[in-house]
Amino acid sequence: MPELPDLVHLVKVLRPALAGRRVEAARLRNPLVLRLLLPGDFTSLLSGRRFETLERHGPFLRFGLGDLDLVCHLMLAGRLRLAPRAEKPLAFTAFALDLDSGQTLSYGDEKSMGKIYLGEAGRFESIPGYLSQGVDVTGPDFSYELFTALIAKKRCQARVFVMDQSLLSAIGNAYADEILFEAGIHPKAPCGSLPEDKRRALYEAVKTVLAWGTEEVEKAGRPLEEKVRGHLRVRNRAGQPCPRCGATIRKAGVLGFDAFFCPICQPDRAGRGLDWTRLEGKKE
Ligand SMILES: [Zn+2]
Repeated sequence: MPELPDLVHLVKVLRPALAGRRVEAARLRNPLVLRLLLPGDFTSLLSGRRFETLERHGPFLRFGLGDLDLVCHLMLAGRLRLAPRAEKPLAFTAFALDLDSGQTLSYGDEKSMGKIYLGEAGRFESIPGYLSQGVDVTGPDFSYELFTALIAKKRCQARVFVMDQSLLSAIGNAYADEILFEAGIHPKAPCGSLPEDKRRALYEAVKTVLAWGTEEVEKAGRPLEEKVRGHLRVRNRAGQPCPRCGATIRKAGVLGFDAFFCPICQPDRAGRGLDWTRLEGKKE
């Protein structure tokens, strides 16, 4: 579920709420999601610990509890919730931590695809993908110069480039579609041959679309575990009119993932002979 704007929002809400809070009891309900990187067991390792820090690293959330790190990679269906202890448990709860504030931090995952790593602080080498994240696209290091250098080396489709976490950390399916729509770039356009104006547009769109998404998630003010997607303009909108030009939004497969786009606003410049305005759009 969570994409970058959701994670930025999660950190903003959870960081002050968890700072200094002590774990009174820890419960593990679905060991499938847990990767224990040190001897001991989940419950006794976490009981009595205090939350000190919370940082986002690409798609990872790193909760610092003294000399332990609890690192969450929520993947497709992972959800975090902070709620009063008396509330009924989150669906598909994988673990729950009762805090001295009377609240419970729980993690639910109906697909059991997410990964929760508990290990010594700062030891990330056992966490797949952690150390290979590219530049944080929400941070100050994400400059146009760096972006140009990254894209110049690539020959892949634009959507594949945007979603490559070892280059840009970290854009998921929904915002990849929104970014390409904003930039007016076809998802299958070869990224290495984009003209200068389109490269600039893509760079700007990464920043503006993620900032807009974060604002929309905040504005919606929904509980942390809920998906906020109503503001998206093309994602999962095949068959609906484009909000910009009215043409019918299409869906296409890009390396096994569904991509949603407007065939007029995002023309296929590579000219592979496909007229996307005439193809039948599949409704979701
Ligand atoms: Zn359009």
